[in-house]
Amino acid sequence: MITTTLPSLTIVSPCYNEEPMLPASAPILQNIMTHLIRDHQIAENSKILFVDDGSQDNTWQLICDLQQKDPLFTGLRFSRNYGQEAALMAGMQTAHRHADLVITIDADLQDDPTLIPAMVAQAQRGFDIVYGVRNDRSTDSWFKRTTANGFYWTMGKLGVNLVPNHSDFRLLTKRVITALMQCHESKPFLRGIIPQLGFPSTRLYYKRQPRQAGVSKYPLNKMLRFALDGILSFSIAPIRAVLYAGTVICGTALLMLIWILVQHLRGAVITGWSSIMASLWFLGGFQLIAISIIGEYVGRTFTEVKHRPRYIVQTDTYSATFHVSTPALTLAHRSVK
Ligand code: UDP
Ligand code: MG
Repeated sequence: MITTTLPSLTIVSPCYNEEPMLPASAPILQNIMTHLIRDHQIAENSKILFVDDGSQDNTWQLICDLQQKDPLFTGLRFSRNYGQEAALMAGMQTAHRHADLVITIDADLQDDPTLIPAMVAQAQRGFDIVYGVRNDRSTDSWFKRTTANGFYWTMGKLGVNLVPNHSDFRLLTKRVITALMQCHESKPFLRGIIPQLGFPSTRLYYKRQPRQAGVSKYPLNKMLRFALDGILSFSIAPIRAVLYAGTVICGTALLMLIWILVQHLRGAVITGWSSIMASLWFLGGFQLIAISIIGEYVGRTFTEVKHRPRYIVQTDTYSATFHVSTPALTLAHRSVK
């Protein structure tokens, strides 16, 4: 009787080459879920959904093995690597058909998984979004902290409402995910979109831990691309900045023209090679920057109008657990690799 009224929770965890990490993190999540189910905090059909983002190592095999041992574990496998945001979207999209609550957490569990029961409790108190927020980033490198702060500062200046020091560790209720699924952009910047959706929200604070195994999947170039995607998908301020700068430069050029004319009429024409070269280089550079910024937006428009799928799922063992009732079929589904 109790189970029907309890919320069904799915923990979505994106995995890209997480073979070294999964054997450690899966039991931790399993333990938390088992306790929550046993304490009647969540429904018995609650799941852990690992989204394999086209890993080249044995991640998928590990997920299948986990599921074979405990049906609490399920998996979604992409046809190739689409990126963490796509993996999160796929996990949420798949999960929210069956789950009332979805928690997303990185597979390396750098974000404190012991906060999960508190997140569920907040959802039961009526909050639709529970943000996990890092109150201590001392375990991150100086470089990562500084670039992250620079990113939050830039986004703030551009008028984008982000929750500082919140990454992708959060709880969302079904209705928030339903609203999120109405955002059809091909590269959704979740940290920017979710605060824009509204709904009652709250924050829980924790200390970020260092990665226990494996390596970060965010080298510098990927991190910069992520930041650029965030800025460009949320703001046309850079285009405006170029417009303002262009206007100021044109105004200055007009004043220069008057000055040149006056000099010309006075017969004091200066044949200054260096000043001409300097302005030539400066204006050339400025124009290239301006064109490239506009090009970035045109490129994004091009990507959006194609309406290509955000990701392609190769195998889905999550939905199967809800649809298939006979043991024979369940087994067949689980053996799909
Ligand atoms: N990840 C992913 N696809 C990618 C890169 C990363 O699914 O292309 C996953 C990764 O497996 C991890 C999470 O995203 O669960 C965060 O990645 P990571 O821990 O490497 O990032 P960091 O903590 O260093 O910022
Ligand atoms: Mg990490």
